[in-house]
Amino acid sequence: MNYKLGSIVIMKKPHPCGTNLWEITRMGVDIKLKCINCGRTIMIDKLEFDRKLKKVVEDEKEKL
Ligand SMILES: [Zn+2]
Repeated sequence: MNYKLGSIVIMKKPHPCGTNLWEITRMGVDIKLKCINCGRTIMIDKLEFDRKLKKVVEDEKEKL
């Protein structure tokens, strides 16, 4: 799937806060994701990210 810095993605499991939208805020060996709803960030390695990624929504500009 095609994603880049600033992309909004949907993961297979929702965040406990109830939303399932994440923004990619850093890319490298690890991917840093920020929860769109509560602002919490998590880091996961790229392999795990690819496994848990469900869908790429769009670029940041379409967010809100
Ligand atoms: Zn959240």
